[in-house]
Amino acid sequence: MFVSVLAPVPFRPQLTYRLMDVDQQLRRGQLVKVPLGSRKIPAVVDACGVDVSDVPVNKIKNIDAVLDFPHLPDELLEFIKWVADYTLSPLGLVLKMALSTPGLLEPAPTRQLIRLNASAESPSKITPARQKVLDILSDGAARSKSDIADTAGVSASVISGLVKAGTLVSEQVASDLPHAEPVISDAGPALSDEQQFAVSEIQTLVRKEAFAPVLLDGVTGSGKTEVYFEALVEALKNPEAQILILVPEIALTSQWLKRFEARFGVRPVVWHSDIGNAERRRAWSNILKGNARVVVGARSALFLPFQKFGLIVVDEEHDPSFKQEEGVLYHARDMAVVRAKVADCPIILASATPSLETQVNAAQGRFKLLKLRERFGDAKLPTIVPLDMRKVPPASGKWLSPDFVEQMKRRLEQGEQTMLFLNRRGFAPLTLCRTCGHRFGCVDCSSWLVEHRFRRELICHQCGYAEPKPDQCPSCKDEDSLVPCGPGVERLFEEVSEIFPDARTAVMTSDTMTSPKATAQMVEQIENGRLDIVIGTQILTKGYHFPNLTLVGVVDADLGLRGGDLRAAERTYQQLMQVAGRAGRAEKPGEVYLQTYEPEHPVVDAMVRYDGEGLMALERDIREQYQMPPFGRLVGLIISGPDIKAVAEAGRRLAASAPHAHVLNILGPTPAPLARVRGHYRYRMLVHASKSTAVQGLMREWLSRISEIRGVKIKMDIDPQSFF
Ligand code: ADP
Ligand code: ZN
Repeated sequence: MFVSVLAPVPFRPQLTYRLMDVDQQLRRGQLVKVPLGSRKIPAVVDACGVDVSDVPVNKIKNIDAVLDFPHLPDELLEFIKWVADYTLSPLGLVLKMALSTPGLLEPAPTRQLIRLNASAESPSKITPARQKVLDILSDGAARSKSDIADTAGVSASVISGLVKAGTLVSEQVASDLPHAEPVISDAGPALSDEQQFAVSEIQTLVRKEAFAPVLLDGVTGSGKTEVYFEALVEALKNPEAQILILVPEIALTSQWLKRFEARFGVRPVVWHSDIGNAERRRAWSNILKGNARVVVGARSALFLPFQKFGLIVVDEEHDPSFKQEEGVLYHARDMAVVRAKVADCPIILASATPSLETQVNAAQGRFKLLKLRERFGDAKLPTIVPLDMRKVPPASGKWLSPDFVEQMKRRLEQGEQTMLFLNRRGFAPLTLCRTCGHRFGCVDCSSWLVEHRFRRELICHQCGYAEPKPDQCPSCKDEDSLVPCGPGVERLFEEVSEIFPDARTAVMTSDTMTSPKATAQMVEQIENGRLDIVIGTQILTKGYHFPNLTLVGVVDADLGLRGGDLRAAERTYQQLMQVAGRAGRAEKPGEVYLQTYEPEHPVVDAMVRYDGEGLMALERDIREQYQMPPFGRLVGLIISGPDIKAVAEAGRRLAASAPHAHVLNILGPTPAPLARVRGHYRYRMLVHASKSTAVQGLMREWLSRISEIRGVKIKMDIDPQSFF
């Protein structure tokens, strides 16, 4: 019998093989191991008994093995095809994301576990150490030897002795143990009226087990997490239902996991790039077997082989990190809605500052809108105050307004915490020679090297290139002539340390929070009041709850508004609201200061007046007027390669063969704002079309007419978020 399979390879993913064992039943979605060239790869059965009249039969190779996994659900295959079509990505690359588990081709790993031998009699000799071991195993569950030894505080030989005596048995079991079942209890927190209303609405939808998108729009600290936890409780009542909670990459906080565990008695299954291979495999196979109920993960979790979705949640749905900017360019929030539709289950998009896309979907009735307008309990939203830097400027070479420093001083005296936000890593974004004007740039990228004083290096934030900071200018050889320009968080640290030498101050960026563990430790330090002042980038702003933090300072509120792309105002508002949302989350009221040179800017004004709705209405009108997303469509084209002439030539060819369809408005090609990265030159084109235009077909047809130029890559970015 001949079988057509889909393989996780970029070109020609549709391949045909022969199944030798005629008695074997193969079904669509079954995982198989097949030879491809000199390699063995996993593949997915697409169809059996296919016609091979146009292939030389002696060229067809045999399927090596049928893998011992349940077949991939049809829903997942349908979703993969949908994503590939929509994002104009090779099907095989999307499939690869769904098969991203190590050791797929190897037999399931096993490990040695110990349990009580039910039929054995008590051992003749009972020591206190033995008794401890027996107590631990009295529930009948199997555990690893080291686990038991650790818990009982005895040496491993005690356990071995009991195995020898026949009291315990040792057995080899699959290490992909099922994940512990969450405990559903109705003993959730007492809900406020608006929380209760949202919960009942969502629970009703969950019970219907049908596609229903919901926007949960609640101010920071209003209890969105509590509300969707109650939705989980309802979904879990169906013993088969699985739940996915998508969170922005870095928001998978220790705090969130602790809350989950407190509510559901177990840890959820966690999926992101930092989990080890064993955990990855265990999670993947248990999800496929239906043995994992609640999964929390970054965007790639969307491609896990869930059997039956009961609910999907996208937390902080506005977060830009849901857009994957490498490989398959997809927006996880948008694709999550598609996934829910395919699976016919409800989906909750939660945010304090929903994206304009989602707001429009809610306004037009496609998404159900549920609002939480107040912070829970006695907590109040912080007061937001603009600080006009033209009127109260910092001292020369400094970045903090004296007015803000006054506020910091007050908090220190009251034993409260301050957070300073500046979305710039390092010490200074640019280093300049005072004598000759030389600027330090990256050799491979069109970007300046950022001084990192803690590491004593100049670093390129595009490619990671680093060099020691020299003592003299490489151009004019002048000594001591190099000056840092502009502030980064490290420079603020210096300033704060000079003003408050006795305060306990820390910097939190991806440079200092290098692992989930390091992050958890820092967060705990703030929680436990062991820090007075925290200076951080956006990494610190997401979802955290620090009860004693009462003052937040935004060092440069105008930063995100410069160089503005389509979403500059929206993004800046979202980001600053997240930052502001960290202040005054408990009994003590919070204050937020925005240092700005443009206090009359609509974004600053909207924050101060808590008028996000007004700002978004303004944004909405502008986008509608110019037919920009979500009222129109955009496709970005990025042309790149090491040879600038070839890149420019590819751009010319694309422009020359552009479809005449008047429905497409084509801008460019022009050198990209980020004109070179890692030695590759970049050109950009932007395609603008009306909402009703099926751009994918037009784009595919257009690209198929371009003859390939060696060394030049053309990437298509549907619904682009980045324009650099
Ligand atoms: P959000 O996700 O909207 O920022 P959270 O769910 O984190 O809000 O809630 C903010 C804080 O208020 C958390 O510490 C949470 O435990 C608490 N909280 C929210 N709702 C309740 C409730 N109904 N009962 C008790 N505590 C609550
Ligand atoms: Zn570089």
